[in-house]
Amino acid sequence: MITGGAGFLGSHLCDRLLKEDADVLCVDNFFTGTKQNLRHLIGDPRFELIRHDVTFPLYVEVDQIYNLACPASPVHYQFDPVQTTKTSVHGAINMLGLARRVKARIFQASTSEVYGDPEVHPQQESYWGRVNTIGPRACYDEGKRCAETLFFDYYRQHNLDIKVARIFNTYGPRMHPNDGRVVSNFIVQALKGEDVTIYGDGQQTRSFCYVDDMIDGFIKLMATDNDFTGPVNLGNPGEFTMLELAEKVLQLVQGKSKLAFLALPTDDPRQRQPDITLAKSKLEWEPSVSLDDGLKETVSYFKKLLADQ
Ligand code: NAD
Ligand code: UDP
Ligand code: UDP
Repeated sequence: MITGGAGFLGSHLCDRLLKEDADVLCVDNFFTGTKQNLRHLIGDPRFELIRHDVTFPLYVEVDQIYNLACPASPVHYQFDPVQTTKTSVHGAINMLGLARRVKARIFQASTSEVYGDPEVHPQQESYWGRVNTIGPRACYDEGKRCAETLFFDYYRQHNLDIKVARIFNTYGPRMHPNDGRVVSNFIVQALKGEDVTIYGDGQQTRSFCYVDDMIDGFIKLMATDNDFTGPVNLGNPGEFTMLELAEKVLQLVQGKSKLAFLALPTDDPRQRQPDITLAKSKLEWEPSVSLDDGLKETVSYFKKLLADQ
C-alpha cells in the first residue's frame, strides 16, 4: 500500500513496485496528486486505487505500507496548515495502527526539513535540527518530526517494523507544474519565457536528487533487515545555489527569460546537503544521476506537458 500514491514520488513508486510484480493499493485524497499520474496503471489487475484521506481510519489487509501522504511543497502545505499537521500526525497514527493490526512493515517519508535551518553542515542523522515551532513552515516540519516520534514509539512500545527515510529535495517528471517548488518553477518559467523567480539573493543552497535514484533508495531501505529502522538520509550530496540552478535551467532551455529577484520566504533554510554515509553503508545506495542529466529529463517532461495543455 502506498499512501500519497497519486503524487510525484508516490506514482513513481507505484510504477516501480508493479514492475517488481507486487500488488499495489494506492491511497490518495488527490489534494496535490492527480489521476493523470496514474492513468497508465488503470486497468492493470495488480493495481487498485482508493480515494481516502489518511487523517481518517482505514481498514485494509496489506503487508507493506509506504506512508507518503502529505503535501510537500511550501505553497501547498501552507494552504491549509492545520490539515497538513493532521495529515502527518493523525495520518501516521492511523497508518501505524493499521500496520500494528496487520503486522505490516511500514515506511515513513520523513524529510530533511526535520533539520530546519541547520547549524551543522552537511546534515547527519544524529543532528537534532533547528526548527521554528511557530513559523509558517512549522505545520510541515513539526508534523513530520512528530510523525518520526510516533514511528519510534510504535517501534519501542509495539515492536513495529519501521523504516524512516529523511528525504532531501527530489525532482523529476510528474512534479506538479504549479506546486511552487524551485525546479518545477524555474523550468516552467524558462519554457514559457517568463522571468525566473529567485527568492532572496539566490545564494541559499539545496541538494537535488533525481526521482529514479530516490525510488531506488526507498526500495533498498524497505528491504533492509528488521533491526535497521533508520532514520536514514536519502538525497544527492551535490550542493548548488539557486543561482547556479537557474543558470543550468536557462542554458538547457535556451529561452529569453531574465532573472527576477523576489523576497526570501520566512524561515527559508540557508543551506542543505545530506551526509549519506549511513545510506551508503546500510543500504549500499548512492545516487547516480547528475543534476545536468536529471534536469534534461525533467525539461523534456515539462515541454511535453505544456505542449499538451
Ligand atoms: P506530492 O504533493 O506530489 O505527493 C503527496 C501526495 O499525498 C499527493 O498525491 C496528495 O494528494 C496526497 N495527500 C496529501 N494529503 C493527504 C491526505 N490527508 N490523505 C491522503 N493523501 C494525501 O509530494 P511528493 O513530492 O511526492 O512527496 C511525497 C512524500 O515525500 C511527502 O510525504 C513529502 O513530505 C515527502 N518528501 C518529499 C520531498 C521532495 O523533494 N519531493 C522531500 C522530502 C520529503
Ligand atoms: N487504525 C486504522 N486501521 C486499522 C487499525 C487501526 O486506521 O486497521 C487506526 C485506529 O482508528 C486508531 C489508530 O489507528 O485510532 C491507532 O490504532 P492503535 O491500535 O495503535 O491504537 P488505539 O487508538 O486503537 O488504541
Ligand atoms: N526558490 C526560489 N524560487 C522559486 C521557488 C523556490 O528561489 O521560484 C527557493 C526557495 O526560497 C528555497 C529553494 O528555492 O530556498 C528551494 O525551494 P523549494 O520550495 O523547492 O524547497 P524547500 O525550500 O522546501 O527546500
